[in-house]
Amino acid sequence: MIRAMGYAAKHSFSRLKPLSFERDPAGANEVEIEVLYCGVCHSDIHQCENDWGNTVYPCMPGHEIVGRVAAVGPGVTRHAVGDLVGVGCMIDSCRRCDPCKEGEEHYCEGPNSWLATYNGPMVPAAKAPDGGNMYGRDNTYGGYSNVVVVREDFVLKVPAAIPVEWAAPILCAGVTTYSPLKHWGVKQGSRVGVVGFGGLGDMAIKLARAMGAEVYVFTRDEEKVAEAAKLGATAVVEGDKKAYAALRSSFDFILSTVPEKHEVDPFVALLKRDATYCAVGALDKIPGYNNQELIMHRRSLAGSLIGSVAETQEVLDFCAEHGIAPDVQVIPIQQINDAYKQVKNEKVRFRFVIDMASLKQEMAEAA
Ligand SMILES: [Zn+2]
Ligand SMILES: [Zn+2]
Repeated sequence: MIRAMGYAAKHSFSRLKPLSFERDPAGANEVEIEVLYCGVCHSDIHQCENDWGNTVYPCMPGHEIVGRVAAVGPGVTRHAVGDLVGVGCMIDSCRRCDPCKEGEEHYCEGPNSWLATYNGPMVPAAKAPDGGNMYGRDNTYGGYSNVVVVREDFVLKVPAAIPVEWAAPILCAGVTTYSPLKHWGVKQGSRVGVVGFGGLGDMAIKLARAMGAEVYVFTRDEEKVAEAAKLGATAVVEGDKKAYAALRSSFDFILSTVPEKHEVDPFVALLKRDATYCAVGALDKIPGYNNQELIMHRRSLAGSLIGSVAETQEVLDFCAEHGIAPDVQVIPIQQINDAYKQVKNEKVRFRFVIDMASLKQEMAEAA
């Protein structure tokens, strides 16, 4: 067994605290990865606090993992010891359903859906005949730890051109925004709206700009207007009626990154005929919308979940090619609870990234 340590929440209102545990060594087609950095995603907070009612405790979050391959199991061909690699939101899927066969394992329709990097199978209640689930585990521990062991085909290659501590947020924030921008055909000359200017919004602006789009960002925070200009986007303060009127029916695509329920009507009115408003941030019931706004211009409301393994590799390569990196602030893991507070207060536009070297001292003391 591999001796491991991470930070975990024991229940929905607990702070994250050190937890010593063991991981199985790399089996067939698996790689052992020494975690170097792990991004802090808003979902980590939702999951720790059981906001979706499905949290398995202890909850050790982390699905923006960058590390180095420390060992490989039998049959591994894609990665070698010493490679710089990444792990995103998923570590396995059923491999048999149509979405899996079509390379969209993040929409896996198998009995337990995909296996999340932390918190276990997405559909834990569907039991196999032997009483377990198809992955043989009810909980998984994520990247707020010194080591992870993952099947090689869910492990990404991190291009050398991306500074290593900046690569982590591409694995969730990056792919979550890249996948819908690509799916809805954003290209040179598209006008794209981004609602919400946190970690996801930051990546959405950078990716859409690199795809050649003209980008507007809608934010509640007037302090972020100058930040948007630096990224080549035009900021609109939410609720600015004059600005909204001037932008009516002009957007090819609007991506909402707001992490909770949010009024959609003001944004739907900004879409061109046939254009789509897609929400990626909120797993909530969206309050009623005026269907007339959809009907009159054949507009669509849509959702999108993270991205496939292939798209995650694509966005890493795209970021390397276009020199895009998320804005990050590196913290030691001991500051994680304070970082959560700041993210909840919506004051941060950058992504917190944990430097996992900060765990070494604690591991030595625990030994
Ligand atoms: Zn995430
Ligand atoms: Zn599947």
